[in-house]
Amino acid sequence: MSSDLVIVYHRQPYEEVEENGRTVLRENASPNGIVPTLKSFFGGVRHGAWVAWKLAEDIDNPGFEQKIEIDDSYGQYSVSRLPLSSDQVREFYHVTSKEAFWPILHAFKERYNYDPVDWQNFRDVNQRFAVAAAEEAARGALVWIHDYNLWLVPGYLRSIRPDVRIAFFHHTPFPSADIFNVLPWRKEIVASLLACDDVGFHIPRYAANFVSVARSLFDVDVAQRVRVPDRLISEGTALTERVVPTTISYDNREIAVSVTPVGVDVDFIEERARAPEAEARAAEIRAELGEAKLVLSVGRTDYTKGGVQQLESFERVLEAHPELRGKLRLMHVSVSANRNMTVYEEVQNEIEQAAGRINGRFGSLDWQPVALISRAIPFTELVAYYRAADVAWITPLADGMNLLCKEFVASRVDGDGVLVLSEFAGAAVELSDAVIANPFSHKSLDRTILQSISMEEPERRLRMEGLRASVHQNTVRDWKPGTLRLDAPEQMIPAA
Ligand code: UDP
Repeated sequence: MSSDLVIVYHRQPYEEVEENGRTVLRENASPNGIVPTLKSFFGGVRHGAWVAWKLAEDIDNPGFEQKIEIDDSYGQYSVSRLPLSSDQVREFYHVTSKEAFWPILHAFKERYNYDPVDWQNFRDVNQRFAVAAAEEAARGALVWIHDYNLWLVPGYLRSIRPDVRIAFFHHTPFPSADIFNVLPWRKEIVASLLACDDVGFHIPRYAANFVSVARSLFDVDVAQRVRVPDRLISEGTALTERVVPTTISYDNREIAVSVTPVGVDVDFIEERARAPEAEARAAEIRAELGEAKLVLSVGRTDYTKGGVQQLESFERVLEAHPELRGKLRLMHVSVSANRNMTVYEEVQNEIEQAAGRINGRFGSLDWQPVALISRAIPFTELVAYYRAADVAWITPLADGMNLLCKEFVASRVDGDGVLVLSEFAGAAVELSDAVIANPFSHKSLDRTILQSISMEEPERRLRMEGLRASVHQNTVRDWKPGTLRLDAPEQMIPAA
C-alpha cells in the first residue's frame, strides 16, 4: 500500500534484539527521543511508511525482507529497509557525516576532516534512500526527511517524483556561510535542499544562517520575513535572532523555511517524576548526599557537549573555594554513542583524566567530588536524578536544541532546582529563565556554577516557574513539519 506520509530517517523505528537466536523487533525502550516522536505522526494519516538502513553482509542478497509491515502501539506502517554494507555505513555515516559534516555544523572548523570522504558513496547511499522513499509515497504524499546524513535525498527524490511534497528537518545547528562553505560539496548539498517545499530548523538563527548560505551560492530571494515571537527571544543571548526569513524564492518556486523547536513529552515526564518510585529514589539519592549539593551534568561524549570544560571549571571552583570541599558533588554522565571513533575515544579519555585528577586532588575516603558515569542511565532513573539535583549543569559549546535541559525542567514538578544552560544550546532562546552561561569563558562557567549553588529559594522558584511555563508552552506535540510559519500575520514584515 502506498503511503501519504513517508518518514526518511537513517535508523529503524524499533530496536532489534536477539531472543533465543532469533531477531525480534521491539518498541524502543525509551518513549523519548526522535524515533517515538516521529512514529506518533503515523496516527494522523491513512497509511505511513518509514525508510531506514539495515546492515547486510551482501547487499544484493541481504538475507532479510526489505519491506515489512509493522503493527505497534503507533498504528500500522511499512518499513523499507535498505541493505547497506559495513563499508557503506562507515563511509556514509562515520566518515562523511561524523568527521566532515558534524564539525562544520557545530562550527568546529579545526576538527573537519575532508581527506577520507568518499563522496560518491555518500551520493549512492542518499540516492538509494530517495528511490526507496519514491516507491513508498502515494501521489502528492508528504515525504519528511531527517538530518544532514540524508542531505542529498531531496534533490534525487524531486527528480524521480515531482508530485510529492518534500520537507527536511535539521536536528543540528546550521552554521553561517563562513563556516558552512568550508564544505567542498556545498553547492550540491544546498541545491538538494532547495528542491524541498519546506526546510526546517529548531531556531530562527539556524534558519537565517541557511538562507544566507543559500544566497551565497544561488540567486535566492527572501520572499517573506517575520519578527521572531517573544517566546523565542532570550534577550542578549548568543543565538537570539530578531527577524527571520520564512519564505524564499528560487527558480520560480517558493520554499518555506520553517522554525519548530522540538519540545519534550511533558505529560509523560511529569507522570514519571511524580511516581512514588521516582520520589523514593530521589529521596534515597538525597540521603546519600547528606549535606552536599548535587550538580548534575548529562550528555553524550562529544567535543560539542563541553564536558571537559565543565570539569576544568569544577576544578577551578574547588581550588578557589576550599569551603566548598565536602559540600558539593558533581555527577557527570557522559554517554559514549560512537565508541569505535577515535575522536570520541579521545574526549572520553580527557574526561576520565580530568575527573580522576579532581578526585585525586580534592577527594577523601568519604567524599569524592566527581562521580563519573560513562554508561547510559535508563530514563526512569534519570528522572530521579533530575529530581534530586540542586543544579542541572548543561553547557554545550554547540547543540542544535538539547533536550536534557527541557527534561530536567519538566521533571521539576516540585518547582525547585536551578538550570545552568549554555547560550550555545538551541534551547537557550526559549529558556530565558535559566542561568545563562558562556562555556567559552572560564569566568562565566565558574561564576554561574557558584551563583546557582548559592541561589536562594525564592529566586530558584521564580526562575523554575518561568522555565516550566516555557516547556509547557511548546511540547513535543506542538512539533510538526510545515506548521512552522511563525505565529500571527502581524509578525510579517516586508522582505529586505
Ligand atoms: N539520555 C538517557 N540516559 C542518559 C543520557 C541521556 O536516557 O544517561 C537521553 C536523554 O533523556 C535525552 C537524550 O538522551 O532524551 C539526549 O538528547 P539531547 O537532545 O539532549 O542530545 P543528543 O544526544 O541528541 O545530542
